Amino acid sequence: MDYLGEFIALGIDSIIFGICMKQYFYCKNSISAVKGAEFHEVGDNLKELVENSPENKIDYVAIRGAVKPLGEPLRSINNKDISGVIQKLSVKEHVVVRTTSGYWSDQEHTMQEIYNTVPFILQKGRDQVEVVDAMAADILDLETISDFFEPSAPTFVDYLWGFFTGHRQRGLQSTEEMLREGSIITGIGELSQSSSKPDSLVLQPPMNGTPYYLTTMSISSLLRKLDDRRKIYRWLCFMFGAIGLFIGGMVLRRYLKDKEEQRLANELKKSLEESRKERRQRVRDKDLRDDQICVVCRTNPREIILLPCGHVCLCEDCSIDITTDCPLCRSSITHKNAAYIA
Ligand SMILES: [Zn+2]
Ligand SMILES: [Zn+2]
Repeated sequence: MDYLGEFIALGIDSIIFGICMKQYFYCKNSISAVKGAEFHEVGDNLKELVENSPENKIDYVAIRGAVKPLGEPLRSINNKDISGVIQKLSVKEHVVVRTTSGYWSDQEHTMQEIYNTVPFILQKGRDQVEVVDAMAADILDLETISDFFEPSAPTFVDYLWGFFTGHRQRGLQSTEEMLREGSIITGIGELSQSSSKPDSLVLQPPMNGTPYYLTTMSISSLLRKLDDRRKIYRWLCFMFGAIGLFIGGMVLRRYLKDKEEQRLANELKKSLEESRKERRQRVRDKDLRDDQICVVCRTNPREIILLPCGHVCLCEDCSIDITTDCPLCRSSITHKNAAYIA
């Protein structure tokens, strides 16, 4: 196909544009959902509020309280005094990689990522709300407990090997992050009565697909962060939209150019036909003898020589339909050429 390259580029661009567009609207909807969510401290007659709501649940609400484990907390592996309810341990490899363009660039690869969790609640005074499915949160703010970078000590052989393979390790980064016991966070999600213990409350990811947040940020900081994301996606939408328009414009330009060429070729063909007609008219005026007239239509002058037999017996129009055998001697035709009788 003529435009295959352009169509592939346009297809990829459209997919990226679509993803950015979806993310943009997701951010936009998230912002209006967070703005619309009522804010409560844990306590605050939340139970009453839930009981008075339809189906004993509030679809989207922001509640703030202190993190407290249900049972034994997790202990930090780097500092035994720190305890928490979610622990993320990750190891990243820092490498220098030779890119296809020949430059060396710094890159990071996550080699390992482990999450440990224990059930927890948000608490204030004697009131509490159980937080369910924390790992499903769109934003889950964790505090960095430790962050070590251990540079590798390459030998000469390693250097040489790295030079030839284009891949050299710079070091390993080990990070420990936690949601600490006692930190004050805001959870935004669906609040309902626990199905197992009707007098306790549960915060969980909303059924209707609005995002779930567990954050140490204030609502206004969260909104600012979401708005920044929205702006980035808006910018990406503009960019990939513009690229799409550019490729589309190029395809259109090429298409119009091809069409114009086709039109010129047709015009040329027409003018050739016209001149052929004129020439015939001149010849006919001379009163053609019988042996100068095409054997098929008996009207036009003989114009085509058939090879290899060499018979000049057809006009150009009739020669188009006769492709296999000469009408005079029946020998097969390999070539045809113009042979005008002047
Ligand atoms: Zn003819
Ligand atoms: Zn022949």
